[in-house]
Amino acid sequence: MLVLGPDSACDVCLDGYDNDTKLPYSIQCGHVFCSQCIPSLPRDTCPICRASFSRSEVRRLHVDLDSVKATPEALEAKRLQAAIAKIANEGSSEQNLRQFIQEGKAFLTSQPRAMYKELRTSLKMISYMCDVRSTLKSRERELENISKQVQQLAQLQAENGLLQKQLQSSKKKRQEERDQALAEQLTLKDHAAKAHAAYETMVE
Ligand SMILES: [Zn+2]
Ligand SMILES: [Zn+2]
Repeated sequence: MLVLGPDSACDVCLDGYDNDTKLPYSIQCGHVFCSQCIPSLPRDTCPICRASFSRSEVRRLHVDLDSVKATPEALEAKRLQAAIAKIANEGSSEQNLRQFIQEGKAFLTSQPRAMYKELRTSLKMISYMCDVRSTLKSRERELENISKQVQQLAQLQAENGLLQKQLQSSKKKRQEERDQALAEQLTLKDHAAKAHAAYETMVE
């Protein structure tokens, strides 16, 4: 029985084999690649030994995949990939998303650059999405602030109009009071003049 070790990986994508999308296939020279990479091998040539091969002669290998003990790193990569799928399907709060992106980046920077290419791509896309979303949100907030300011301005203008009216009416009142005082003064003068005239007549 052919048993894959924990570090067995496709030499093209460097991902480990699984029972799903990364099944091990061998080409005529005997080199083994995953089912995802075989169709993309250029010019039907083995990327390791350069022997040409025929696509009709590609054989799936029956190996005991269950005995492959996944490394903690592979398990963590799987967990992150599943979390990304969940986020893509169900969405997530921005805070959770940011935390997840941090986790993912921390894990990936601790791994060789050539490993977990799919996970790297997914994480990049998700963090791009997150940035776009937060930019949109901050634009929305800006817009909200502006409309609040416009409202405040309108309120101030209304208050200003009211004050202007009050000022006008108190000015008018003051003017009326002044006119009245003047009129009273004139009446008083008139009285005095008349009294004086009467006195003069009496004296004459
Ligand atoms: Zn592969
Ligand atoms: Zn080969």
